[in-house]
Amino acid sequence: MQKKQFKTESKKLLDMMIHSIYTHKEIFLRELISNASDAIDKRYFHSLKEGGTTGIGKSDFEITLSVNKEARTLTISDNGCGMSAEELENNLGTIAKSGSYDFKKNNDQGEEIDIIGQFGVGFYSAFMVADKITVCTKTENGESHMWESEGADGYKIGPAEKATVGTEVILHILPDTEEEKYSDYLEEYRLKSLVKKYSDYIRHPIKMAVTSHKKKEDSDEFEETTEIQTLNSMVPLWKKSASEVSEEEYNRFYSDKFFDYEPPCRVITQNSEGTATFTALMFIPSHAPYNYYSKDYEKGLELYSSGVMIMEKCADLLPDHFSFVRGLVDSSDLSLNISRELLQHDRQLKVIAKALEKKIKGELEKLLRTDREKYEKFFSAFGAQLKYGLYTDWGAHKDVLQDLILFHGAKLGKSLTLKEYTEAMPEGQKDIYYACGETADKILMLPQVEAVLAKGYEVLCFTEDVDEFAVKMLGKYAEKDFKNVTAEALDLSTEEEKSALEEANKNAEAMLAFMKESLGDAVSAVRFTASLKNHAVCLSSEGEVSIEMEKVLNKMPGAGGEVKANMVLEINHTHAIAEKLKALFDIDKDTLAKYAKILYAEARLIGGLSIENPAELSALITEIMI
Ligand code: ADP
Repeated sequence: MQKKQFKTESKKLLDMMIHSIYTHKEIFLRELISNASDAIDKRYFHSLKEGGTTGIGKSDFEITLSVNKEARTLTISDNGCGMSAEELENNLGTIAKSGSYDFKKNNDQGEEIDIIGQFGVGFYSAFMVADKITVCTKTENGESHMWESEGADGYKIGPAEKATVGTEVILHILPDTEEEKYSDYLEEYRLKSLVKKYSDYIRHPIKMAVTSHKKKEDSDEFEETTEIQTLNSMVPLWKKSASEVSEEEYNRFYSDKFFDYEPPCRVITQNSEGTATFTALMFIPSHAPYNYYSKDYEKGLELYSSGVMIMEKCADLLPDHFSFVRGLVDSSDLSLNISRELLQHDRQLKVIAKALEKKIKGELEKLLRTDREKYEKFFSAFGAQLKYGLYTDWGAHKDVLQDLILFHGAKLGKSLTLKEYTEAMPEGQKDIYYACGETADKILMLPQVEAVLAKGYEVLCFTEDVDEFAVKMLGKYAEKDFKNVTAEALDLSTEEEKSALEEANKNAEAMLAFMKESLGDAVSAVRFTASLKNHAVCLSSEGEVSIEMEKVLNKMPGAGGEVKANMVLEINHTHAIAEKLKALFDIDKDTLAKYAKILYAEARLIGGLSIENPAELSALITEIMI
């Protein structure tokens, strides 16, 4: 056999390729299996053209993996078209020459030829795990040849004895090193899992002898049995029309693929043709993965091209607010780069991502309309993410998200959307009211909430940190402003009530100023209010920062308690306490100062804030008692 050098700069190229094109060595198997599958498709295509003279039926085509551990070889065989000496020379002797690409170009006359190969480098990825590759091949004309190479040194081509048509690629697996256990590629479990991961939907069977240990009949002993198994599922579930697939099949596929013990909350299928041709199969999980709200969680959909997995988690396919969606996208017209690990340019991907976002939104809306209970379960798992989505990117996603958000209504006692809230607003109500607190029960006890409910208006309960920030970003909904009921600017009074209040404040100006003085910087003002019903006092805020925002912002790492809401101590001017305070101002200012402190502490407690100096407060109360 004559030894030949790789053509032109091939040596350098080969070296570069082996070491830098691919990030994962394991993809070599995907590449060789894809080549085998292409070879079978080519032979089948010939047979169709020749009217079926090749003597092989469609169901006889197969790809076989076999391992010889002693010899450290892994063999990938196919009964595809094989290669002539010339083809061996051209296709394997020339790096970046793709016989498959040429085949597609020469034969594609409107027929759908779904060939995977296109760059002419995949084959050489095998040098990442092998120090020698032997190829034995026989064409349909009966020519048998072999090709052998130990990498950059060159290759040999010579005649060979091969009984059947097709190709055998024998990899002499590298010895183990400290960094890489190459022997793994000789293990059944590893090969099985690589086929599942990358080549599950190759449309020809990938077979391997698999050993298992079975219990002998009538004995406790185990016996080793070997049987030929087909490792790939071949027909992608997403290529079947949704009406052909049962719910159970979808659920099984989901739990096998994403290791979730609970069936998905919703299955979404999408088939698109036109600006972007793709098929998607997506799932909304029923519960949040344990790491969902942490940095460890990686969003993304699996990306397939012609049945071959290209990327495990393609993050660009999902916006952050729908990061909980799992599933896959299959598109044959993606422009892949040479390693197939990345996409050449992301224009198509962007078009697909937009279409997916629209579809997911539509499906969630449908769920909300048709199965409220299920939607509420979904929302309790992922609602916070939707609200973060409203808040991020300066509210850019509000059209997608604002109608998917639920809040608990204090009056209704259950959840409602902003649309439901605004549609149920009684005449005369101008704004959307909300209140913040730890739980809906605590919010219900807020004095200001009581007053708004008494007017017959609904109050949305904001129990999560993100809630108020999200609506601030939203600005308005259906032309209505959001109003925090514990913020000072509420205007629920009639004209009559308003002027009575104005008068009360004016008459007690000096007394209120004295109370403010005795509370120092804790409040920016003390005022009478008409918006309380039974309660004596409450705290409200004025300006941009609400009391809840102060709490949330100061909880953040590094905040150091620097964010302060401007608090106003509001006193119910129709409550008996008002008269008492006025009387004290005239006769006993010392006691009035103490009352101011106690009332301020009461208002903090009702508002869910802590007491700054509990010892001082206890002493004050006791002093007044005796
Ligand atoms: P690609 O698959 O992108 O074309 P490869 O480097 O993997 O690139 O393969 C180069 C060429 O070698 C293929 O295009 C094909 O013509 C030929 N080839 C590789 N493997 C086989 C095989 N198992 N049977 C027949 N031809 C093959």
